[in-house]
Amino acid sequence: LLGTDGRLSTTIFTEMTMLARQLGAINLGQGFPDEDGPQQVLDAAKAAIDAGINQYSPGRGEPDLRAAIGEHQQRFYGLEADPGTEILVTAGATEAIAATVLALVEPGDEVVTFEPFYDAYAAVIGLAGGRHVTVALRAPDFQPDLDEFDTVVTDKTRLIIVNDPNNPTGAVFPAETLQHIVDLAHRHNAFIVTDEVYEHLVFDGARHIPVATFPGATERTITISSAGKTFSTTGWKIGWVVAPADVITAILTVKQYLTFVNGAPFQPAIATGLRLGDDFYASIASNLQRKRTILIDGLQQAGFQVFSPAGAYYVLVDTAAVGFEDATQLARRLPELVGVVGVPVSAFVQPEHVAQYRSLLRFAFCKREDVLREAASRLAGL
Ligand code: PMP
Ligand code: GLN
Repeated sequence: LLGTDGRLSTTIFTEMTMLARQLGAINLGQGFPDEDGPQQVLDAAKAAIDAGINQYSPGRGEPDLRAAIGEHQQRFYGLEADPGTEILVTAGATEAIAATVLALVEPGDEVVTFEPFYDAYAAVIGLAGGRHVTVALRAPDFQPDLDEFDTVVTDKTRLIIVNDPNNPTGAVFPAETLQHIVDLAHRHNAFIVTDEVYEHLVFDGARHIPVATFPGATERTITISSAGKTFSTTGWKIGWVVAPADVITAILTVKQYLTFVNGAPFQPAIATGLRLGDDFYASIASNLQRKRTILIDGLQQAGFQVFSPAGAYYVLVDTAAVGFEDATQLARRLPELVGVVGVPVSAFVQPEHVAQYRSLLRFAFCKREDVLREAASRLAGL
């Protein structure tokens, strides 16, 4: 039923990863790393399995992981969250987003996101019967026009979903924009859902500022993150929500009928990860920044117009600069033409806005440096 317009059929990530596998192409489409994360985290998962942590976890998540999430919020952002009532472990950020939207959105409520948006937002807003309204992020810097934003958020707005650092644009919102979001949410009595899965992936010395740190924001902010990006464990699907106790209770009510619980032995392992030293956290961004440079240099040499990201692990390019006006068509042909896979930005926008993003293509740079060099040299042959 939901797939009749083709929007909620196979995700672009599945489609492009299948294409990469079939053709043996380099997969810069789906965003997952091709190297393992910290050894201590991997060892902790093995130890947890050996210690018999293999049955259902408590509904809110293993207490030690919730404690570690609370410590992480305090250590990096000075935020206080009670692990007993204000923190919930989920099956990745994906379930956190789904359970939050399903818990808070009634049919007909408006949900505002920036556009392009992570595809799961549109899908779950649709499942909840909400109306999805967007504020454009435009090249070259992909920052919102705050006046336009003012006209989109109204008393009908139930949620404003923020994704900072942003997928797919790589934008990192400045304090001024985040403060504006908080002010608008207050004015219209809306909740803010902030997807911060790329919180540790910011470049050039920039700092990520969580929405919940703004005065008066905590009471209406649902902060979502995930271990997948920070610890290179996208397959473990450990995510979390930090929110006021009554909101957590509402989200938990939905979550228990989605997955109930997940990933018991991975939960203590992620607690170990969250407690790793500052060197580890500094190394995530510096390693990725090198990868970003390799891919960007290659894409520029290949003739693309490149929009350098401030955060996350994707780079957008304009394919018109190399003679392809339609990036969706190019994405389907690229694996055959040069053996590289990317994802068209059209997958992250509403059908009526595709024209504005038609020539944008996304490449992921969370791959080994030799893989990125090889991809860059193949793209030069386009
Ligand atoms: N939000 C954004 C912005 C993402 O890019 C992703 C993909 N990792 C997710 C959520 C999903 O995260 P998870 O794998 O933890 O479900
Ligand atoms: N978040 C990753 C991306 O944007 C993977 C998403 C997915 O496979 N659903 O590529």
